[in-house]
Amino acid sequence: DLILSFETSCDETSVAVIENGDTILSNIVATQIKSHQRFGGVVPEVASRHHIEQITSCINDALTQAKVTYSDLSAVAVTYGPGLVGALLIGVTAAKAVAWAHHLPLIPVNHLAGHIYAARLVEPIEFPAMALVVSGGHTELVYMPKENRFEIIGETRDDAAGEAYDKIGRVLGINYPAGKQVDEMAHKGHDTFHFPRAMDQDDNFDFSFSGLKTAFINTVHHADQIHETLNKDDLAASFQQAVIDVLADKTKRALQDYPVKQLILGGGVAANKGLRNRLEKELQAFPKTSLELVPLSLCGDNAAMIGAAGEMLYRHRVFTNATLNADPSLEFEWIKEPATN
Ligand code: ATP
Ligand code: MG
Ligand code: FE
Repeated sequence: DLILSFETSCDETSVAVIENGDTILSNIVATQIKSHQRFGGVVPEVASRHHIEQITSCINDALTQAKVTYSDLSAVAVTYGPGLVGALLIGVTAAKAVAWAHHLPLIPVNHLAGHIYAARLVEPIEFPAMALVVSGGHTELVYMPKENRFEIIGETRDDAAGEAYDKIGRVLGINYPAGKQVDEMAHKGHDTFHFPRAMDQDDNFDFSFSGLKTAFINTVHHADQIHETLNKDDLAASFQQAVIDVLADKTKRALQDYPVKQLILGGGVAANKGLRNRLEKELQAFPKTSLELVPLSLCGDNAAMIGAAGEMLYRHRVFTNATLNADPSLEFEWIKEPATN
């Protein structure tokens, strides 16, 4: 089957053509980062306008590059949440128009399911699986007993990991989005500041990063006041070590409670080299669990991952229609029965 997929939840306009859910025929990503940088973050109205301007050429490029036409397609898939409502609406409207005009089924996709199912573009997902989703807006441990079942066993109580990266990056004078550059600096520095690891020892799988962010900002401001210069690489390394310690510790404990065949690392922050290395090391203690790192090129927002998740829904005949609306705070369907280990 051939799926044309759309992703416009934030600041990337993306359209892809995916074959059988696991093969990328094209994955066009038009980023708007430059337009948002001078504001230090994503401006929703600016994002929507860019999506409108880019979406048609993204569709054309995706079809051309994949060497297919509308009549070859099996279905259309689109991110309808979570994300910025005005941004989501552009993708939803475009997908509806294509589906209606070409009599194709329309598949509604959760953006975070996309970040997880990006893994199948490399390797089939085996269940039960655990996903650590770390991105600009989310930090979650998701247990998946089987296909299309998502049980959030832990999540951040305040800032997402990527959000914390972007905020401390601003204090270091780094352009938005700061994650990649902080990661690079961290590899040149050392954990000399020993920032707090919030909730690390708590008996749950939740996270908290706002205390770490505040500790970081206070350290820098205090040094400014007494005209002391701090080593930025060490600051970055100390921050990153605190983030990775908590993510790795909680993930390890989750794997102890929920034995799974795969651990999937997805989302924008999954591109973090330190985190990837650390999980590789930790997984040696779990010989029955394989680590599926979403490739760097597919960690950030893209439509290929939406096609990968969409194709799974296509096989389950999960379709919607022209009444589909954007849902900015869309959640995974809550699964009531406790997980069976
Ligand atoms: P969500 O997926 O929760 O809706 P989003 O789509 O805005 O949020 P993504 O695009 O998935 O988020 O990820 C972007 C985030 O990833 C940014 O916060 C960015 O700083 C962070 N990031 C990118 N590369 C790295 C890296 N190497 N290390 C740490 N963070 C990174
Ligand atoms: Mg983004
Ligand atoms: Fe995302």
